[in-house]
Amino acid sequence: MNHDLTALVGRHGGDGSRLVQILREVMAVEGWISPPTITELARLLHLSRAHVEGVAGFYAFFATTPHGRFRVLFSDNVTDVMAGSHELRKRMLDSFRIELGEVSRDGLVSVGATSCTGLCDQGPALLVNGHAIARLTPARIGAITSLIRAGSPVEQWPDNLFTIDHHVERKDLLLGTELAPGAGIDAAIGRGRAGTVAEIEASLLRGRGGAGFSTGAKWKACAAAPGEQRYVVCNADEGEPGTFKDRELLREWAPLVVEGMTVAGWAVGAHKGLIYLRGEYLFLLPALEALLEERRRAGLLGAGIRGVPGFDFDVEIHLGAGAYVCGEESALLESLEGKRGIPRNRPPYPVTHGYRQQPTVVNNVETLVAAALIAARGADWFRAVGTPKSAGTKIHSVSGDVARPGIYEFPFGTSIRTLLTAAGATKTQAVMVGGPSGVLVSASEFDRRVAFEDVPSAGAFMVFDDSRDVLSVLDNFAHFFAHESCGFCTPCRVGTTVQRQILGRVVAGKGSRRDVDELLQVSRLLKATSHCGLGHTAGNAVLDGLTKFRPAFDRRLSSLDVPTFDLDAALAPAREATARDDAGAHLDEEGP
Ligand code: SF4
Repeated sequence: MNHDLTALVGRHGGDGSRLVQILREVMAVEGWISPPTITELARLLHLSRAHVEGVAGFYAFFATTPHGRFRVLFSDNVTDVMAGSHELRKRMLDSFRIELGEVSRDGLVSVGATSCTGLCDQGPALLVNGHAIARLTPARIGAITSLIRAGSPVEQWPDNLFTIDHHVERKDLLLGTELAPGAGIDAAIGRGRAGTVAEIEASLLRGRGGAGFSTGAKWKACAAAPGEQRYVVCNADEGEPGTFKDRELLREWAPLVVEGMTVAGWAVGAHKGLIYLRGEYLFLLPALEALLEERRRAGLLGAGIRGVPGFDFDVEIHLGAGAYVCGEESALLESLEGKRGIPRNRPPYPVTHGYRQQPTVVNNVETLVAAALIAARGADWFRAVGTPKSAGTKIHSVSGDVARPGIYEFPFGTSIRTLLTAAGATKTQAVMVGGPSGVLVSASEFDRRVAFEDVPSAGAFMVFDDSRDVLSVLDNFAHFFAHESCGFCTPCRVGTTVQRQILGRVVAGKGSRRDVDELLQVSRLLKATSHCGLGHTAGNAVLDGLTKFRPAFDRRLSSLDVPTFDLDAALAPAREATARDDAGAHLDEEGP
C-alpha cells in the first residue's frame, strides 16, 4: 500500500457512498486493490470489510489481484471483432509473450478483454489503464507496445493516440436546434414547476434508454412523492454494445444535457443532480467538469438560479467502473450509493424510493437533451415530428458493415432500409437494432420502422452484411451476457452460461436438434423468470436468430436428433486440477 488512504477518504468527506469513486482512485494509483487496502478502507469508512471486498470484486475495472503496470483491455464487442481486434490482440500478446489474462513475468503488462468501449464507429479499440484508444492498426499496436516496453507513463503518450473522432452524420430535430444557455431554464421558470411537468407530459416524450416510459409521468410521480430531498440522475452509463450516441451528446451537446437536468430539477423540486458516467468515457470528464464550472459562474447552476429564490440545483459526476448491469436504473442507484450494482426489487420505483431512498428521476442522456429543447420550444414543436406513439426523433449509433458509421438522427417511424441507405450499407443480411438485448432484423423486414410500436431501439444499429456468420454474431452476444450477468438470480446466472455453452457447441458444429430445442427453452426461461432487464433480454437475439435464421442453425448441426457429448471438454476441470494441459491430456486423434 503506497497510497495515503486517510487523505483520499478525507477528500471524499469520509462518505462510504463514495466507495466506487474511492476505489477508482486506488486503482489509478496502485493498479490493484490489495487486502490491506480493503481492510484500511473499511476501517476509515466505517464499513464492513465484506462490503468493501464485495464492491472491489464486483466491477470489471477493479482488480483484487495484481495486474500489469500497464493493463490493456481490448474491446470484445462484435463490431470490433469484425474489424480485426482479435488479430491485433494476438499481435500484442505475442509481442509480450503472454497469454490472454496473464501478467508478464516482470509485472509490466497484462492484456485482457472488455465487453465494449463505446467506440464501435472507430474500432477496433482498447483501454490502457482506463484510457481509450480507437482506430487500432498494426502500426498503432506497434507504437503502444513500444511505449509500454519503455515504461512510459500513459499520461505522457502522444496525444494523437487518444484522439476520438466525431462521426455525426445526420442531424434532425434535437441535434440541429441551437439553444442559448439558460433558454430552456427560463422558459421552465416562466411556466412554473407544475406547468413544466405538464409541458413535458404534453410533448409525449418517452425515455430513450429502452423502456420508453413517459418522461412527464415520471417527473410528475417524483414531484408528488413524499421525501426530504429529491434527486435528478442522468444515466450516462451507455454500456449496450453498439451504442455510442451518448458519447457524442456528452461532447458536443453536453450543455443541453445539463440544461435538461436543471429543468428536471426545477420541475420536481430537486436540489442535486448526479451524472453517472460510464467508466470507459473517462476522457469526457475534464470537459464535463469544466462545463459545470462554467455554468456555475453563469448562474445556471448553484443557489438561486436565474435569481429565483429557492431554485438551488447543482450537479456532480460519478464514474462507473465497467459493469453493464449498472445501466439498469436501480442498479445504477446502488452503484451511486457505493454498493455493488445489483438491481433492486421493484416496486418501489426510483420515483418514490431512488437515490438514498428519496424520490428520484432517472433519465437517459438523450431524454434530457430532448427535455431541455421541449422546455424552450414547447410540446407542439416536439410532437409534430415522429409517430402518434413515438413522438420526436431517435438518435442511432450505426456501426458494422456500413460505409459511414456514426451518429444518425431520424424521426421515429423511419424505416430500417432508410437508415441502411443513409449509412451506405450494401448486401445487408441482418441488423441488430437496439444492441444485443434488442431485435435481430432480417432482410425481409427492412421496411419495418424504428418506433416504440414497431421496432423499439435504445440506439444501437449494428449492421451485418452477407459475408458474416450470424451464428458467430449470436455467440458473441451470448458471451457478453454470460460475462455481464451480475449473478444475483439463478435463472440469469445459470441461463446465460447455459445459453453460451449450447450456442458454442452449435457454432463449433457439435450441436444437435435437441441443443436447439434447449436453446429455445433457455431463452424463454430467461425472459420469463429473470430478476431484471438484463436477464429478460439476454435471450432476445438467440430467439430471433432461431426464428429468422433457422437454416443457418440447421446447416451447422452435426446430428439432427442425437445429442452430442464432448468428453474432451468435460474433462477440462480434471486437467485444471492436475495442472495438465499437454497433448496427452486431451482426447483427440493424436492423444492416447
Ligand atoms: Fe443480475 Fe441477471 Fe438477475 Fe439481473 S437478471 S439481477 S443481471 S443475475
